[in-house]
Amino acid sequence: MPSLGGVCALVGENLEPLFECEIVWKGDKIVSIEGKKEGKFEGRVVLPSFVNAHTHIGDSIAKEAYVGLTLEQTVDPHTGLKTKILQSSTKKELVSAMRKALKQCVALGVTHLLDFREGGVEGLKLAKAACEGIGVQLALFGRLSKPPLKQRVLSNERFSEAELEELHKVCEAAHGIGVSGANEYSDRMLEQIREVAKAHGKLVAVHCLESKNTRNRLKQVFGKDEFQRCFTFLKPDIFVHMTCATRKELALASKTATLVCCPRSNAALANGFPPLREVLKHKGALGTDNVMVNSVDMFREMEFAYKILVGLTKKPFDDVKSVLKAATLNARPLLRLKPLCVDGDANFVLLNLKKLKPFWNLHAVIVNRAQEENVEMVVKQGLVVKTLIRQDALTA
Ligand SMILES: [Zn+2]
Repeated sequence: MPSLGGVCALVGENLEPLFECEIVWKGDKIVSIEGKKEGKFEGRVVLPSFVNAHTHIGDSIAKEAYVGLTLEQTVDPHTGLKTKILQSSTKKELVSAMRKALKQCVALGVTHLLDFREGGVEGLKLAKAACEGIGVQLALFGRLSKPPLKQRVLSNERFSEAELEELHKVCEAAHGIGVSGANEYSDRMLEQIREVAKAHGKLVAVHCLESKNTRNRLKQVFGKDEFQRCFTFLKPDIFVHMTCATRKELALASKTATLVCCPRSNAALANGFPPLREVLKHKGALGTDNVMVNSVDMFREMEFAYKILVGLTKKPFDDVKSVLKAATLNARPLLRLKPLCVDGDANFVLLNLKKLKPFWNLHAVIVNRAQEENVEMVVKQGLVVKTLIRQDALTA
């Protein structure tokens, strides 16, 4: 059975360090983790692998095209630059750009991504092709190939039979449905999305309250704001962004759903900063959002998140561990994955932090200073998908 010894491991729901630890795994399960609560720290640490809780790998072809544009100009499903670039690219170009981003995920210790996928069933196929043979799992959240026209939304129409049929097919082929935003659908359509996902036992995720402009866009038409419409009709399992959410909304949403924030994306697209202190209290997760806007690097996302959290609230914050949990653990239940524990899934990362010694806070040094060069090994479902150490060192 493969094993790793002489490491410090961050185990369980609370990422508690176990020193001088040995981890043994068989197939995709961890069979033993033994170590001491206090002991020597040589510089190698094993932590649960990163789960990037919100991405759009599909726009890897359009990196940095957003510069100087607003959110709508960049990603509006009807008129945004992203849609134009995707439509004018060949399948080969799209898949090749996605593969590069996914390979980078492996190098950075990301084993799982929750990815919003445009382009209906065909879009799902392309993403699956891009992922083939690369050691990451893409949990895909698909959508209709064409969003309904605005006039149909404003008159609170239902989906056509053809749209419903497509939605069922998307659901069958995906991990769930990814709704670009409540403003792109009528109340009835939002209800139908929920019903279709429920019939297939799949998840629903939605972008919500990304900017101050999205909240009241259709309030006069439907009598409810964006959050209320999501909460009442769509009943999502995942709320993405919540940049402009109130405390009350965050508390309400987190009772039935996981919150996911993308602080670097919100900043880059001029939408402000998410209320991270509250979101972390509710065990929210972190995602890097569109590849056209951001790298898939969860190290960068964590450092940015921690620093804006402290800077914006102007209060010291010692729970750096909660940022690390947001990047590794908090989205795991959505994929039915566990933290590092006996009988848990063997999805972990080995970091070599020797170059960063000495330091006073292990969780903080990972959040603030670790980077790709520190990732020495990545294990996904028991398989070594990246390693810079000798393979024979793994055999017990
Ligand atoms: Zn997004």
